[in-house]
Amino acid sequence: MPTFLFDEIIFGPVKSRRLGASLGINLLPVSGKFCNFNCIYCECGWSGESGQTTRLPSREDIRIHLEKKLREIVVEGAPLDMITFAGNGEPTIHPEFTGIIEDTIDVRNRLVPSVKIAVLSNASRLSRPEIFESLGRIDKNILKLDSALEKTVNLINQPPAGYSIENVVEGMMRYKGRFILQTLFVKGEFGGVVVDNSSDEEVAAWLEIVKNVMPEMVMIYTIARDTPIDTIRKVEPEKLDTIAGEIRKLGILVQVSY
Ligand code: SF4
Repeated sequence: MPTFLFDEIIFGPVKSRRLGASLGINLLPVSGKFCNFNCIYCECGWSGESGQTTRLPSREDIRIHLEKKLREIVVEGAPLDMITFAGNGEPTIHPEFTGIIEDTIDVRNRLVPSVKIAVLSNASRLSRPEIFESLGRIDKNILKLDSALEKTVNLINQPPAGYSIENVVEGMMRYKGRFILQTLFVKGEFGGVVVDNSSDEEVAAWLEIVKNVMPEMVMIYTIARDTPIDTIRKVEPEKLDTIAGEIRKLGILVQVSY
């Protein structure tokens, strides 16, 4: 039940389940969550909880902190695979996201050219040309879609008004295979309603979307940390393996985190 907030702008490097030695960048408030979704499994807790501050670090703050940290890593010779935009919410809602990506590419190219840049996004803002283009510039453009069914997305992710799966799929297709699809599978109950995006019906509909958008990779996983509610649980490893097998049959790389 207790959830977790990143308390620094730059954190790590940490050993990530999915990304190797990863230096995290948190564009959102260091003492609160800032997201346009409200996923029932979010490790940062509920969006908009009282006491949270919404002051965002500036583009300049982020550039200075990142450059300083990367210089330290270079001097120490510490292993680093990835610079990852994740943290207390949705990175693309930072008003300076485009400039921050530009700076990060510049600093990376100068100091650690072999390190990749990843953004974990809920894909809700792909219809904005500047966001679409910025995500298209980085190495690992990791976009969330937890279900092909609106009613399930509304239940699990609680997206903002105006969000539509159709728009997300359309945006993904425009990347022409240069993105990674990430899906979290979860089971349980929320507000008296059964939650299970790993059912046969759900997976069949979701696989249809995977077939259409043809990502370079699919990352599937399940809850691994505390969640805001205690009525949801992990999906079994066997089920994740079965889903992974279906993705491989499409000729798409898959990474499973249990
Ligand atoms: S999109 Fe990510 S940060 Fe936002 S509520 Fe969902 S899990 Fe949390």
